[in-house]
Amino acid sequence: MDLVCASANSHKYSEMAQILSGVVNLIPRPPEIPDVVEDANTLEGNARLKATAIRSSTGCPAVADDTGLEVDALGGAPGIFSARYAGENATYEENVSKLLEEMSQVTGEGRSARFRTVALIVWEDGAETIAEGVVEGVIAETPSGKGGFGYDSVFIPSSGEGKTFAEMSDEEKNDISHRGVAFRKLKELLL
Ligand code: IMP
Repeated sequence: MDLVCASANSHKYSEMAQILSGVVNLIPRPPEIPDVVEDANTLEGNARLKATAIRSSTGCPAVADDTGLEVDALGGAPGIFSARYAGENATYEENVSKLLEEMSQVTGEGRSARFRTVALIVWEDGAETIAEGVVEGVIAETPSGKGGFGYDSVFIPSSGEGKTFAEMSDEEKNDISHRGVAFRKLKELLL
């Protein structure tokens, strides 16, 4: 089954392709398609905007994901604003710095957080297949590790032996991550 990946992020593409392999041939997003404005107010709404835009421009079924980091001490922020927490066009480093600054007075279990991903396929006829994945953890006090992307260097999953996602191999991260859980559920729904 061919699905076009709505994400231009190469880290996400390889995570998704690895998980869906065997069931889905994941086609990279054509580079000439412009970015979609993600202005829905839920992860599911943003995933739908991305998948629908790619389906319309390619004519093929498309799969998108949208992810948010929910930090309890910040009332669930940055959530759907995770990509632009430190401002429009903020870099990963700027977002991580802002997060650590906002959390500077918070200690121990107060640093609890979770990543949530919604994975969504839009088929040729407009029907949808949707799955969600969540991973619980804490925000580290300082960044560690060189792998991954985004907030990986400051997220320590509860099930990960104290390592941040950025200190894990791609396989280790995929085994427990929000995106791993969501895409494995999605794969099950396609069998
Ligand atoms: P997106 O809108 O789904 O691309 O995700 C929003 C933001 O969340 C991204 O810009 C990243 O900063 C962050 N993010 C998404 N997935 C991950 C992940 O697996 N690890 C760390 N950060 C992530």
